[in-house]
Amino acid sequence: MTTQQQKPPVLWLNVAVFSVTLLVAIIGVPLYAYQYGFDWAQILMLVVAFSFCGMSITAGYHRLWSHKTFQANALLRFIFAIGGAFALQNSILHWSSDHRIHHRHVDNNDKDPYSAKKGFFYSHIGWMLRDYQASRYHDYDNCRDLQKDKIVMWQHKYYLLLAIGTNFGIPFAFGLIHGDIWGALLLVGFLRLVLSHHTTFFINSLAHIWGSQPYTDRNTARDNGFLAFLTFGEGYHNYHHIFENDYRNGICWWQFDPTKWLIKVCSWIGWTRNLKVTPADRIEKTKAKMQFKRIQQQLSKMPNNVARLTQLQQEYEALIAKISDYYQAKKRLLDMEKQKIADSYDNFEFIQQYKSMQARLEQQRRAWKGLMQQYTT
Ligand SMILES: [Zn+2]
Ligand SMILES: [Zn+2]
Repeated sequence: MTTQQQKPPVLWLNVAVFSVTLLVAIIGVPLYAYQYGFDWAQILMLVVAFSFCGMSITAGYHRLWSHKTFQANALLRFIFAIGGAFALQNSILHWSSDHRIHHRHVDNNDKDPYSAKKGFFYSHIGWMLRDYQASRYHDYDNCRDLQKDKIVMWQHKYYLLLAIGTNFGIPFAFGLIHGDIWGALLLVGFLRLVLSHHTTFFINSLAHIWGSQPYTDRNTARDNGFLAFLTFGEGYHNYHHIFENDYRNGICWWQFDPTKWLIKVCSWIGWTRNLKVTPADRIEKTKAKMQFKRIQQQLSKMPNNVARLTQLQQEYEALIAKISDYYQAKKRLLDMEKQKIADSYDNFEFIQQYKSMQARLEQQRRAWKGLMQQYTT
């Protein structure tokens, strides 16, 4: 039996959808633009529709349903369910089931549905072009919680109808109002879908190939600011794979994570609640551990390294201890503030201790940074 014969059968419908939409987007759209042009209203609608699809996947399918990093009201879940069908990425139930397997068995070529170890093409789109998952296609056992969500089950039942309805209906309705049905179908229908597909697919392919690994090197996931820009914040994938229960992917204020901003803003109006975050000390310790591991590996290859390895070990242990001390004190202070006793005279001494712990941690962070620079430059 040859390798070719061993491969599962080609899913011609998927091949047709991906190739026809791609061809129309790269040939039809420029030709139409050359012949008739597109105006700003059409470009704006493209951006709005692209964002609607993208965020329904990132905030809805991914951070809400697959990982349960927050809760959302029925209206927002309904909006995400419609946007997800418009994004044409299968039902919430199916997508989440695949994604939970991806996290559980990341990089395992036999189990991870889009294992990055099988290469760029496979993890990007190849995994959907053949019937690789025939044996477990309708097995949603890992999503029993989602089966209790009426909106998830409604979308799953009527997925095909919703997908066709939104993908033709929304561009058609806009074209009708705006006065250029063909232009709308090309731009908001085809180009939007192709952009939405491939940018999302980058999270399975490029975000497991290209970028840095500040938190863990135990899987292929990478942090990549450029990909975050294309994927509504999902490019911080190294962070995401280690702290998958966090509603954020980009944790710093300057990191581009509009999905996080959307979830946060929705919490202000009561549409989302119970937003989960990883404690800051755990994040900092995980990052320090990874840095420690890297420098240790680097040093162990060098001659006469005993003194340096000892110094590295000592600085690392001091950093971890000071992080623990400071965050424990911070937690106590917050509890005291809640009970409104922080200002009382009895706690004055504790607040002084807290401030000195903070200063000692800052000093240790600087020492650690200096040590890192010594070995990375
Ligand atoms: Zn995930
Ligand atoms: Zn991943």
